Order: sequence, then C-alpha cells, then structure tokens
Amino acid sequence: MEDKLVHAIAKNGDIRIIGATTTNLVNKGVSIHKCAATAAAALGRMLTGGLLMGSMLKSENDKVTIQILADGIARDIVVTAYPDGHVKGYIANPLADLPLNSKGKLDVAGIVGKNGNLLVIKDMGLKEPYVGQVPIYTGEIGDDLAYYFTVSEQTPSAVGLGVLVDTDLSIKASGGFIIQMMPGADELLADLVTYRLQELNSITELINKGMDIKEILELIFKDMDLKILNESMPLYKCNCSREKVIKALISIGKEELQKIYNDNKEEELQCHFCNKKYKFTHDEIGSILEDIK
Ligand SMILES: [Zn+2]
Repeated sequence: MEDKLVHAIAKNGDIRIIGATTTNLVNKGVSIHKCAATAAAALGRMLTGGLLMGSMLKSENDKVTIQILADGIARDIVVTAYPDGHVKGYIANPLADLPLNSKGKLDVAGIVGKNGNLLVIKDMGLKEPYVGQVPIYTGEIGDDLAYYFTVSEQTPSAVGLGVLVDTDLSIKASGGFIIQMMPGADELLADLVTYRLQELNSITELINKGMDIKEILELIFKDMDLKILNESMPLYKCNCSREKVIKALISIGKEELQKIYNDNKEEELQCHFCNKKYKFTHDEIGSILEDIK
C-alpha cells in the first residue's frame, strides 16, 4: 500500500487533523541508515512527526527541522521536512538498541534519554529561522511533539506516532497523526476526541491490518463531520547536490580548506541523510580555494 498524507477538518473546522501512513518512506530511511530495531522506531517516529509538521507550513519554500539532542545512546536525531511531503532524516547512532520496555514495546524513550531538548527549527525564508525548544518530556517522541505544540505554540494537540518493526528489521507498518483543537472549540469536544483516541487500538496495528489513513480517521471522527481537504503521497527524499556540498566546504573556512588541499589527497564527503558520496580531487579543492580568495 502506498504511503498517504491527509489534511482534514472535523466539526466545521473546530478540529484540525493531519494524518499519514508512512510505512514505505520510513522503511527507506531506516534501510539507508541500517538501523537496529529501537533506532528504527525512533527515526521512524521522527520522520512521521516531521512529515506532518512540514505539511503544515504555508509556503513552498519553507522547511522545518526537528531535532532531538539528549543524553541517550541514540544521541542526535534530526529530520527535515518540506511542505510538498518530502522528508529526510538522520540518527547519530543507528545501532542504538535496548530490550523491550515493561509494556513489551520498543524502548524509544530509553535510547532517546531523559535529559535533553527537542528543537523545532522553522525556516520560512526570513533572515533568522524560528527556533522553538522544549525539554524532553517522555522521550517517546509523540508526547514530546504534543508538549512542544502546547507549550511553545500554545496549541493543545494530540500527537500519535507509531512504527512496527519486523523481525528482519524492515518496517511492517508506520504512521501517525496530529490533532489540534482550534481556539474557541467546545471543551467537551476535546474530551470526546481524547476518549476516542484512548479507545483506538495502536495506529500501527490498524495500518498493519490494511487500513489506510482515511479509514483510521473515519474511525476516530465518525459522527463529527470529517472532511478530507487534500491527500498526497509523501516520500523519503534527499535534496543534496554537489553545489550544496561545495557551499558546505566553503563554509568550513579558508584555513581548514587549505589544510585539506595541503594534504594532497582526494576528499570524499558523504551526505548524512542519503549516504550519497561526493568526491573532490586535489585540483578541484584547489579551484574551490581559488574561488574564496
Ligand atoms: Zn543526500
């Protein structure tokens, strides 16, 4: 089944909903990074959360980066997403893995760690990007994003993210949603949504049974006038290029680059997000140096 990203409203716009199935794109991300099971679940939840947040951006040139920097063995997890449904991600320690937690689930909070921050960086073409930061809440990622929305954006939100990892470390099912109550919405309505979410089986179980995101949302918002506004197919896609790598080389500074040049060796740089390799010969490094002079 293809991945699907859906924007919807319910109760005449009092409830805003963004949901997605992401089994294929998460599978691509975790296979690029050769993740162990727990790392795969963590990166998969971040990719899905990032995708949903990226699709909330208004202009096509905007982008959002979400990053977890904490004291767990996963270390740094970064995801960048774009409004067109493209997303890419990176986990510093793809081998991070722990025994199942007391609920029998992959211990994402365990590898994320307790002390650290969730950063949300929105680049909207202005001089300075918007940076929001909250301390790690539970480390389960969905809870942390919900906490961010509530504290940093003053928008009470429910965030559900799930990744089911198969025994061969491929992704069996993955998906998630962000549900936000708009200002002025009935508080009883928020209670009802909360109750429905508690009743719901885990989202990955439903996806694994073959339900698509629209069917899952219909299950939650039955009798609440659910309206699907648009749907699209999200993708794991990296937009790196030789030009961008050259810019990165220039940004390390003339002195450092001169050292690389003096080493008289070929320089190979690898993209963090897709593992693509970019080679630069001694002469090419020389001409980049010339350009900065
Ligand atoms: Zn790349």
